[in-house]
Amino acid sequence: MDSCLFCDIAAGKIPSTEVFSDEDFLAFADIDAKAPTHILVIPRRHVAGLNDLEPEDADLLGRMVLTATAIAAEQDLSALGYRFVINCGQDGGQTVPHLHLHILGGRPLAWPPG
Ligand code: AMP
Ligand code: ZN
Repeated sequence: MDSCLFCDIAAGKIPSTEVFSDEDFLAFADIDAKAPTHILVIPRRHVAGLNDLEPEDADLLGRMVLTATAIAAEQDLSALGYRFVINCGQDGGQTVPHLHLHILGGRPLAWPPG
């Protein structure tokens, strides 16, 4: 694998504004926030994206969503709501090929997305 921006952030080689960290996941502020709260949750293990998930990753993905809902609650987003986004590939708008879940909240979010 070539160098990966989010692997480097997970390894502490590139700084980030950390929101949550445990053995399996890291959450940090998006550098170009699209909403008052915009946090990225990543698995520490490199997975390029949704297309690369295997059946044995079901537990990882489930815990990633639960980690993100706990972070949303800590950020006081539960009452008014929020959005999780996982972009995939070119048409999905994925720019960093390391799986990441966006937590967006703090304002009403338009639907459908552009
Ligand atoms: P995506 O377009 O779904 O692949 O999302 C990638 C996200 O990573 C974008 O929202 C970027 O603003 C964000 N991003 C890129 N570089 C960094 C960085 N060094 N620290 C934090 N967020 C970043
Ligand atoms: Zn990576």
